[in-house]
Amino acid sequence: MTISQNIIIGSSPISLVKAILMGRSNKEILIIDKGKSIGGCWQISQHSGMNFDLGCHFLVPFEADVDNIKLISAFKNLGISAELTNPKAYFDRKIDEIKDYSRDYKYIKVEGGYPNIIKTLHDCILDLGIPILKDNILSISVDNEVSLIGERKDYKTENLFIPSYCDLRKIEVHGKNIDLECPYQDSQHLVILAKGLWNKKHYDYYFLNESDKFTFDKLTVHEGHEKHLFNIRVGKKHKLKSDEELIKLASDFIKELGYEIKKIIYSERHIYEFPYRSELYVRNFQKNLDHESGGKIKMFYTRNFTKALLEANV
Ligand SMILES: Cc1cc2nc3c(=O)[nH]c(=O)nc-3n(C[C@H](O)[C@H](O)[C@H](O)COP(=O)(O)OP(=O)(O)OC[C@H]3O[C@@H](n4cnc5c(N)ncnc54)[C@H](O)[C@@H]3O)c2cc1C
Repeated sequence: MTISQNIIIGSSPISLVKAILMGRSNKEILIIDKGKSIGGCWQISQHSGMNFDLGCHFLVPFEADVDNIKLISAFKNLGISAELTNPKAYFDRKIDEIKDYSRDYKYIKVEGGYPNIIKTLHDCILDLGIPILKDNILSISVDNEVSLIGERKDYKTENLFIPSYCDLRKIEVHGKNIDLECPYQDSQHLVILAKGLWNKKHYDYYFLNESDKFTFDKLTVHEGHEKHLFNIRVGKKHKLKSDEELIKLASDFIKELGYEIKKIIYSERHIYEFPYRSELYVRNFQKNLDHESGGKIKMFYTRNFTKALLEANV
């Protein structure tokens, strides 16, 4: 049995931020995550000297300047240098109707790219000496304390924090079941590292509407030394296609955007499965769980990274 005053399930960026804030106020804290590596859906990979984000993330700013100022300052307080800028982005429905919206949209650019978010937060967790244990929490019950049954060990804590996409079906509070049932979703990306060159104006981000005809709905491009890394999200209707078919379609898609592929150095299909909970579900569940457990278990908001960072009061 492992005992800690505070336990956080999950290690997505917001779980790490939560742990850092508690660690900085000298609270005893333990992080438990069942994943192969930390980061939740923000998985990082490395190939040929390039660090890249397997989830193909895009941080959207707020409408109000005052919130964006708070957001950039929150990043700064975490040791992350970020700025609000225009993306080199293309937002459209069809490839043959290219419109450059770069000047109309803003996004949050992070120094060193998005992989740097997880790295910086993880370094901070290590500096603060916060342990991260690998375990799958199978059930949670609350009486005077909170008990967790894991695949490897059991745990006890005074305060438990669970993320919005916590993979649990129910929590037992004073003998009563609180249902956490929800559907699973998977997010699929193809990562293609290629040698080649652009023979058309190109962008860093492409947002497309998926259809029967178009297989992909989002693309990010990272430029390395004499190579490019394409991270392409597979649209909902096309997730059952085989790896071979998707890689072939992705190569054709890149060529259609004006990239002449000389050689594919590496390709990978990344699938991230998570229990999907809507904004409304999370908001209602937060209140219900807090009330039923007498504040001993809190679901903290992780659904949207920028919003969650502002709510975390960094
Ligand atoms: C595919 C995807 C893409 C996204 N893209 C963007 C984006 O581009 N921009 C943006 O602002 N936000 C984006 N988000 C929002 C996203 O909600 C947050 O950025 C954040 O990663 C979600 O955090 P989370 O902890 O709820 O879920 P996850 O990132 O899924 O992390 C949950 C973590 O908890 C662990 N875990 C869950 N249950 C258990 C258990 N029972 N026992 C032990 N460990 C457990 C998992 O292993 C995982 O590491 C995206 C979310 C997803 C899922």
